[in-house]
Amino acid sequence: MLTCSKVYKDIPFAHRQPLHKGHCSKIHGHNWSIIIEFEAKELDANGFVVDFGNLKYIKAFIDEHLDHACLFSKEDSQVQDLSQSEFKDLFKILWVDNASCEGIAQFLFETFSQLVKEKEAGRVSIRSLKLYEDEKNFVSYAPKS
Ligand SMILES: [Zn+2]
Repeated sequence: MLTCSKVYKDIPFAHRQPLHKGHCSKIHGHNWSIIIEFEAKELDANGFVVDFGNLKYIKAFIDEHLDHACLFSKEDSQVQDLSQSEFKDLFKILWVDNASCEGIAQFLFETFSQLVKEKEAGRVSIRSLKLYEDEKNFVSYAPKS
C-alpha cells in the first residue's frame, strides 16, 4: 500500500475544554498543523496516490471553517449562551462533538474522509490524520489500524 501525506501548517483557531480543571477550560488559541496521510489501492494515471494540486477543497474547508475560528463542544452550555448573546458576532464558531485535540482530530478525519470520498470517486481514502496543537503536542487518529 502506497501512501502520501499533505501538511497544512500554522492554522490559527481557538478551542476550550469546559470540563478541564486547569487553564484548558479558558478559550485559547494555537497555530495548529494538520498532516493528512492518503492511501490508494491503485495509483492514478500520473502514478500518484492523490494529486496534491487537486486538494483545493481541503484548503477551502480549512479557510472557511477553521481559520480564525473557535471550535467548541456542542455540549458547552456556557458557549451556547454566549453564541446567543449580544457578543455572538465576536466568534466564528464551529461546533464539534468534543473540542479536545483528540476530538478535533477525529472530526477532521471524518470530515476530510467524506470530502475525499466524494472528490476522488472512492479510489483514495485517508489512512491517518495528525493534528498538532504546537511543535510539542499532537494527536494521531487512524481508526482502521
Ligand atoms: Zn489547547
